[in-house]
Amino acid sequence: MTRRPESAAIIGGGIGGLAAALALLRAGVDVNVYEQVPTLREVGAGIVLTPNATRVLRGFGLGEGIERWGAAPDIWRQRRWQDGRTLLLGRVSEMRGPSGERLFYCWHRADLSTMLRDALPPERVHLGHKLISLKDDGRTVTLDFANGAQARAGLVIGADGIHSTVREILLGPERAQFTGCVAYRGLVPSERLAHLDLPNEAQLWLGPSKHFVHYPVSAGRFVNFVCLIDRDGWTKESWTEPGDPADALAAYDGWHEQVRAIIGAVEGRDMFVWGLFDRAPLPRWSVGRVTLLGDACHPMLPFLAQGAAQAIEDAATLAAVLGEGGDVAETLKRYEALRLPRTAAIQGTARGNKLRNHLPDGPEQQARDAAMAAGEAQWSIGASDWVYHHDAAAAARTGALGLPAASLSGTPA
Ligand SMILES: Cc1cc2nc3c(=O)[nH]c(=O)nc-3n(C[C@H](O)[C@H](O)[C@H](O)COP(=O)(O)OP(=O)(O)OC[C@H]3O[C@@H](n4cnc5c(N)ncnc54)[C@H](O)[C@@H]3O)c2cc1C
Repeated sequence: MTRRPESAAIIGGGIGGLAAALALLRAGVDVNVYEQVPTLREVGAGIVLTPNATRVLRGFGLGEGIERWGAAPDIWRQRRWQDGRTLLLGRVSEMRGPSGERLFYCWHRADLSTMLRDALPPERVHLGHKLISLKDDGRTVTLDFANGAQARAGLVIGADGIHSTVREILLGPERAQFTGCVAYRGLVPSERLAHLDLPNEAQLWLGPSKHFVHYPVSAGRFVNFVCLIDRDGWTKESWTEPGDPADALAAYDGWHEQVRAIIGAVEGRDMFVWGLFDRAPLPRWSVGRVTLLGDACHPMLPFLAQGAAQAIEDAATLAAVLGEGGDVAETLKRYEALRLPRTAAIQGTARGNKLRNHLPDGPEQQARDAAMAAGEAQWSIGASDWVYHHDAAAAARTGALGLPAASLSGTPA
C-alpha cells in the first residue's frame, strides 16, 4: 500500500503551480516546482480574484501582500454598451472575511505571480525544466526534462496549463476547442485616464456579440481592460499575439465614450489578443500517483473570472486531503471527487455567461435587462454565492462540494 508522499513534483510555475507549492509546503510535503521557461514572467494583464480564492491566499498568510499589491474595488457594476446605463450593481466591498478583511481583489498578473513566488524558498522553483515524459512505477514517479535533467517524486501534479503535457501522458491527446471568442487585453497607466474620473469600481459593459471589462490593478496605478469579442475562428499559430489597439477600437464603434477612451489610451506594446479555448470537463484527473490541477484539467472561459481562482481552490483542497495522510492514489481520487463536480459546474456556467453577456439587442436582451433591474435572483450578484462562499481548505473536512443550489443550476452569474 502506498502512503502519504514525502515528496511532490509540480509541473508548471503558473498561478496554479505556485499556489499548490505553497499549500503543499504548509502541509509538510517536500515539494519542488519544475517550470519550462527560463524566467518566470506573467503577461501584462489583469486578473480578478474573487472571495473564494482570496480566502485561500489569506489562509496561506499572504494578507500583507494582498493588501499591498491588489486593488480592492468597492463596486462591480454592469452597464449598457451605448448609454452607460447601470444594469446591475454589486457591492463587492461588503464581501469580507471573519475579521472584516476584504476578499474581492483585482490584480496585475505579474504582481500576483511575484507575491506567490516570493513566498516560496527560491531553491524549490526549477526554471528551464520542460517536462517531456514521466513514468510511475507504483512507488515513485520518474520525470524526464528536455534539458537532460531527471527527478523523482512520490506524487506529481500537472499544473502545466491548457496544453498540459501531463494531461496528455495520463489521458491521451485531445485538442482544446476554440470557443468562438477572442480577448484583447491592455493596461493603461491611471494618470492617462485621470480626465475620466473613474470611480473605484470594476465595470462590465454588455453589448451585442461582445462585452468590455475594466478595473484598477497594482494598488490603482494602472487600469486593466479586456475586450471580449465573438469571432468565427482563430487562425493564428500561437494562442497569444500582439494586439492592434485600432482593431479593438473599430470593434467598439458606437460604444459609450468611456469605453472608447480607455481603449484609445493604450499603447500598442501594452496590448495583446488571445484566442479563448476550453475543453469539456474530463472524466478523471488522476492516474496512480499523478494528478492534474488548474487549466491542465478544467480550462474555462474567463466569463465568471474563475480560471485561476479554481486552480487556487484545487491547491487548497489537495493540500488538505494530503494532510490527512493515507494511500496516495486513494487520496488523489478523493481530491478529484471533491473538485471535479464543482469545476465542471463552473466551466458550464462560464460558457452560459458568453450567451448571456453577448445577446443581440432585441426582446431577449430587453427581458434580461429588465430582470437585472428588478433584482431577480438569477441575475443578481448573489447568483454567484455558491462560487464565492466555498471554503476549499475546509472542504476535505466538511465534504462540501460547492455546487449551485438546484434552483440556480446552470444560470449565469
Ligand atoms: C482573457 C482572460 C482573462 C482571465 N481572467 C481571469 C480572472 O479574472 N480571474 C481568474 O481567476 N482567472 C482568469 N483567467 C484564467 C486564468 O488566467 C487561468 O485559469 C490561470 O492562469 C491558469 O493557471 P494555471 O497555473 O493552471 O496555468 P498557466 O497559467 O497556463 O500555467 C502553466 C505553466 O506551466 C508551464 N508549462 C507548460 N508545459 C510545461 C512543461 N511541459 N514542463 C514544465 N512547465 C510547463 C507554462 O510555461 C506555465 O508557466 C483569465 C484568462 C484569460 C485568457
